[in-house]
Amino acid sequence: MSRKLGAFINFGIGVSAVFVIVGAVAFGMGQANQAAASAPDKTVSSAKAPAKVPAKTPTTTPSPTTPSPSTPVKPAGNRTAGAEGNKVLFFTFDDGPDPVWTPQVLEVLAKYNAHATFFELGSMQEQHPSLKEQVLAAGNSIGSHSISHPQLTKVSAAKRHHEIFDGPASKCFRPPYGAENAKVKADIKAAGMKPVLWDVDTLDWQRPGTQAIVNSILKGAHNQSVILMHDAGGDRSQSVAALDQALETLTAQGYAFAAMDC
Ligand SMILES: [Zn+2]
Repeated sequence: MSRKLGAFINFGIGVSAVFVIVGAVAFGMGQANQAAASAPDKTVSSAKAPAKVPAKTPTTTPSPTTPSPSTPVKPAGNRTAGAEGNKVLFFTFDDGPDPVWTPQVLEVLAKYNAHATFFELGSMQEQHPSLKEQVLAAGNSIGSHSISHPQLTKVSAAKRHHEIFDGPASKCFRPPYGAENAKVKADIKAAGMKPVLWDVDTLDWQRPGTQAIVNSILKGAHNQSVILMHDAGGDRSQSVAALDQALETLTAQGYAFAAMDC
């Protein structure tokens, strides 16, 4: 599989917010072929704190080793910023919300004062409406992952349109399997969203063992990395356990964990 990512940054002087739109050309043929994509633009730039921070934007609380939390300075992608000088990671959880696993993920996140972005399915939201509120109430953000998780490059235009336009309300859209083409990207844009892929694929859905997932996270974690995990779609006990271990280590390394601005 090859994947190209192009990124560009817009500085909104007025609001001093920085957004990076990550466009990706993906040839993902299925979840089994999902692979990590690396965003080329990792440049850390600083900007002043946004004059207006959206109500749902979580405030990143610093770890004990992090001296000075300031306001968000480096949103990248649809990424909510971390404090200036701090290292930030963007954990993302796909395919939920799930009544068993999503609350467990939320519990682990709360333990470390961490926030994340949940790319939810419309079908799952419909089945478990209260979980969406629970996710948001804890300071996390929600992205759309379509309604029913089809490979959008292989469905009819009508189906593609429905899955993108009528899915979870968000500013961010992560295509199932990372499968994109020009039509998918055009629809995402027309629906008022930005495509969001990932930098680190933990392959947690394969259940490779808790330690293997922890290792994937720690190996791939760099400032501003977007980390792909799952909070639904099967037994996610390994994902939950791995998240707990990884957050402990990464907190000690000085990372903060922010939700994207979705
Ligand atoms: Zn998915």
